[in-house]
Amino acid sequence: MESQKKFAPTFSFEFFPPQTQEGTEKLRATRRQLAQLNPKFFSVTFGAGGSTRDRTLETVLEIQAEGYAAAPHLSCIGSTSENIRTMLQKYRDGGIRHIVALRGDLPSGMAQGGEFRYADELVKFIRKEFDDAFHIEVASYPEYHPQANSAQDDLRNFKRKVEAGADSVITQYFYNADAYFRFIEECEAMGIGIPIVPGIMPINKFSQLARFSDACGAEIPRWIRKKLEGYGDDSASVRAFGLDVVTDLCDRLLQAGAPGLHFYTLNSAGLTTTIWQRLGL
Ligand SMILES: Cc1cc2nc3c(=O)[nH]c(=O)nc-3n(C[C@H](O)[C@H](O)[C@H](O)COP(=O)(O)OP(=O)(O)OC[C@H]3O[C@@H](n4cnc5c(N)ncnc54)[C@H](O)[C@@H]3O)c2cc1C
Repeated sequence: MESQKKFAPTFSFEFFPPQTQEGTEKLRATRRQLAQLNPKFFSVTFGAGGSTRDRTLETVLEIQAEGYAAAPHLSCIGSTSENIRTMLQKYRDGGIRHIVALRGDLPSGMAQGGEFRYADELVKFIRKEFDDAFHIEVASYPEYHPQANSAQDDLRNFKRKVEAGADSVITQYFYNADAYFRFIEECEAMGIGIPIVPGIMPINKFSQLARFSDACGAEIPRWIRKKLEGYGDDSASVRAFGLDVVTDLCDRLLQAGAPGLHFYTLNSAGLTTTIWQRLGL
């Protein structure tokens, strides 16, 4: 963890762009609450294949106009360089200085195509066309990306993104701190020394978490899965147990020198705020 200890911890919160007026109001309230925790930035996801392009843009510009730093996610799969360039120009013109650069996943049924195959190509493109206008975050997977041929291949592919010009990294969520510690060791052995901030998913509903986790390859350890399954419809117990597990995880990560935490808030402030308070941040 030596490579990570030298960075001052940064904290950030992730949202998805709301689809309705009610969702927009709820997100504003969530943001007001989380803004009190003084995060480094709020990030806003980008729907597969560009499905939320306009809503992501609107949401980040609103956050920026409120005086907070906003970081749009941008996925390149299925897109043309012209589309990506136009979006980046709009972001730059709107005062955005921070991008989370991703490959993304095409929605099932949507044909491949587009000019980008992997996220490292997007990072290279941003650096070539926009120089240092943006701080670029990329994604990493301490439990490895589900489509990777092997752990070793995935690490080599991750290194390409760093070499292409990424400034820092947010990980996929995980509940096994040792996977993160080992991942950092492997990155250090490969000479990767930029901040790799753990992504944290608070536990709210077991069925939803199980679905997400199966899709993105994040493991729910058996003991956690069994406990959550055992609570059935008792959502208060699921949340109470989830808070204990995730607070312990965050505590272990920060104690070991993780350079901050990035919370997948799912547009709700409650669980994230409770974890924050319990950590004494
Ligand atoms: C922090 C975070 C935020 C996210 N936000 C969003 C979002 O807003 N919208 C969204 O749709 N998705 C989002 N995702 C999900 C992400 O888009 C998927 O995990 C996607 O499958 C991979 O994206 P990537 O940028 O990591 O891809 P890449 O880094 O391109 O990797 C994808 C796969 O290709 C392999 N690979 C990479 N480069 C090469 C190469 N040169 N040759 C061969 N194989 C290669 C990798 O090993 C990996 O298996 C997010 C994920 C994280 C961790």
